[in-house]
Amino acid sequence: MPDYKIAVLEGDGIGPEVTREAVKVLKKVARLTDGLNLSFENHAVGAAEYLANGNPLPESAFEACEKSDAVLLGAMGLPDVRWPDGKEMTPQIDLRERLDLYFGKRPIYLFHESDSPLKGYRAGEIDFVIVRENTEGLFSARLSQTRSDDEVHDVMRITRHASERIITAAFELATDRRNKVTLVDKANVLPSMVFFRQVFDEIAAKYPSVETDRVYVDAASLYLVQSPETFDVLVTENMFGDILSDLAAGLIGGLGVAPSGDIGDSCGVFQPSHGSAPTIAGQGIANPIATILSAAEMLHWLGSEQSITAAGRIEAATRMALADPANRTSDMGGKLSTAQMGDSICQKMEQSA
Ligand code: NAD
Repeated sequence: MPDYKIAVLEGDGIGPEVTREAVKVLKKVARLTDGLNLSFENHAVGAAEYLANGNPLPESAFEACEKSDAVLLGAMGLPDVRWPDGKEMTPQIDLRERLDLYFGKRPIYLFHESDSPLKGYRAGEIDFVIVRENTEGLFSARLSQTRSDDEVHDVMRITRHASERIITAAFELATDRRNKVTLVDKANVLPSMVFFRQVFDEIAAKYPSVETDRVYVDAASLYLVQSPETFDVLVTENMFGDILSDLAAGLIGGLGVAPSGDIGDSCGVFQPSHGSAPTIAGQGIANPIATILSAAEMLHWLGSEQSITAAGRIEAATRMALADPANRTSDMGGKLSTAQMGDSICQKMEQSA
């Protein structure tokens, strides 16, 4: 009987508000799913924790994440809370790197035609996944010291090891979907991206039944807006994935409906694609759907028959709740509060149980 221990890191800004709704939905789905037991343990992590105790990612919280079956995270960081060198606290990135969560999974799915700024796309007609390499790329420069008074270098680091495993993950994902992988790179300009493409071609040769495409990141930004239906799985380096995921979220109603998972070989951290949205924090208006769908991603990843059934229940209930275009929080033009949106998904699950 699956019994999963979930570490919950609510974090900063709207993190606690949206995470509480996801935990509410998880508790409900566990009650409705025979043989699924979930227990939750909260840990303080983030900019507020740094202000309180001097460390945004306390060692005890890190160890609890390592020992848990999965981690559910809200959002971390506040623009005014910075290290002396001017960079923000980013414990969510420290967690990714220390737990080697190389596979950034960013599903993009349109629930209702009224949610997209694009004309003519009905529910389900925008449906793709951005696979973001999470451990190196341009983000690896964040810890480097290549700085003089007049010059700073941010180096894009691409290794064979990290490229092979992320590209393989993208192909494996495509075989469970519509069998297409698009490489997004900048191989016309950057040597690191020429190498990334070379590794892509090597892996692609092992998956002859998967259709492939190779697109420069600038053109990918155009095609995502012009013809998002042509994409199934996109794989790209860390920074390009970071930027394209926000663009992609804009196609389906915004960051409030864009979930994500940061997945390694033995650990997974599941969190909305958005940040801590400090300007709307504490008002009870943040959209919890991205976090609720991230919780469903977590249940899929946990991989038992019961957890996969539960994930399907959450996704089906979200589809039902969003079938009525009035059933929205204010970021998507509706009037529901954060808690009402969570309640609405719980009610749909109850009704269809
Ligand atoms: P953000 O994602 O917090 O907000 C961008 C915009 O989207 C804002 O207008 C915000 O109000 C809106 N928004 C985001 N999530 C929403 C939701 N659930 N419901 C309704 N509206 C929502 O990005 P930002 O403003 O660039 O960053 C704010 C802080 O979050 C910064 O400190 C940044 O470093 C941090 N951040 C953290 C993460 C993370 O924890 N994974 C990711 C990105 C940014």
